[in-house]
Amino acid sequence: MPSYHALALFSGGLDSILAAKTVMEQGLSVLCLHFTSPFFGKPGKIAHWREIYGLDIIPVDVADAYVAMMAQGPTHGLGKILNPCVDCKILMLRRAKVLLAEYGASFIISGEVVGQRPMSQRLDALNIIIRDSGTKGILLRPLCAKRLPETDAELSGLVDRERLHAISGRGRKDQMALAARYALAEIPTPAGGCLLTEEPSAKRFFPLFAHKAAPVPADFELANIGRQYWAGERWLAIGRNQSDNTRLERAVAPGDLVFKVRYLPGPLGVARPLPGSAWDAATVADAAAFVASFNPKAMATAGDVQVDVAGFPASPVRVTPSRATPLGWAEPSWEAAKEGKRQRFTLHGVGGR
Ligand code: SF4
Repeated sequence: MPSYHALALFSGGLDSILAAKTVMEQGLSVLCLHFTSPFFGKPGKIAHWREIYGLDIIPVDVADAYVAMMAQGPTHGLGKILNPCVDCKILMLRRAKVLLAEYGASFIISGEVVGQRPMSQRLDALNIIIRDSGTKGILLRPLCAKRLPETDAELSGLVDRERLHAISGRGRKDQMALAARYALAEIPTPAGGCLLTEEPSAKRFFPLFAHKAAPVPADFELANIGRQYWAGERWLAIGRNQSDNTRLERAVAPGDLVFKVRYLPGPLGVARPLPGSAWDAATVADAAAFVASFNPKAMATAGDVQVDVAGFPASPVRVTPSRATPLGWAEPSWEAAKEGKRQRFTLHGVGGR
C-alpha cells in the first residue's frame, strides 16, 4: 500500500482540487478520496481527473452509511432541499480518519472556506464538523487555514502555515487566481452535482424516507430512474425510453415485480413492494393497467391486453390499459415532500448549505 502524508476530501469541485494542490505544492504527497453514494459522486470521472489534474484519487463508497444516516435523520438538520451538509462532512471525515492509518497519513485536507456557504461553512458549523468527526488537530483546511487555529501538521513543521491561504466569504476571485497559478486544465463549476440539493431529484427520494424505515442504497438507485409513481405505500417506476428500460432491468432486485405488456414493445414497470405494502392480485392488476397505459400500441388496441408480471405467480394478467386506475397512482411532488420533510426531519440547526 503506497503511503501518503495526507488524505484529501475530493468532490471534484474547484475548492477540493485547490486544497490538495496547495499541500502538494509544499512537496507533500496527497491521496484524494472521492466519496460516492446514490446522491453524489462521479467515479467514472476519476481517470480523467487523475490525468488532467495530476492527482492520486480513489473512490470511497459510503452509500450504506450515508443512507442509514439520512434514514435516521441527520443530527444537524437539513438545508433548503434534502441536503444534510454538516452531517455529510462529518461522515466523510470520520471515514477519512479511519483510512489515515491504512495510508500512513497523518492529516486530512478539505476544501472548505470560512463563510463560503451561509450554513455549513459558517465558523460555528466548521467547528461542529471538527468536534463531531473527531478531527481536532488533524483537519487542515488549506484555503482558509490562516483564519483558523493551527493544526498539528502546522505545529510540527510538516506543513508551512505561511504558504497556506486566508480565503473567506462567497467570492471566487481568490480561487480563480489559484486555479491560474496551478494552471488547471479545466475549471469545474462551483456546484458539485449533489442530487440532495436539487428539487427534481429530492422529490423522487423523499417518499422512500416517508414510507420505508430502513431504505437501502439500491432503493435510491431505483428512485432515480424513469417516471416515479406512488399510491400510498405502493411504489412503481416506469421507463420513459429504452435507456430507462435498460437501467430498470439492471436495477431489479429480488422481490420486485416487473411489468411488461406481452408482445407489444413499450415501457417496463418495476414495483418494489415495501414492508407492509400489500401487493395482492387487485393491486397487481391495477399497476399492470397503469403501466400498459404508457404503451402506445397497447392503448391503440382499445381493448384488453396481457401484461407479463415477473415475480407474480398468476402472471400474465389481462387488463384494460388505464391512466386513471382505482389506486390513483401519482408522481411525487416537491410540495408534498416539503411538507413531509417538516415532519420527518429536524430542520433547525446548521445542517444545510
Ligand atoms: S451538497 Fe451537502 S450533502 Fe451534498 S455532497 Fe455536498 S456537503 Fe454533502
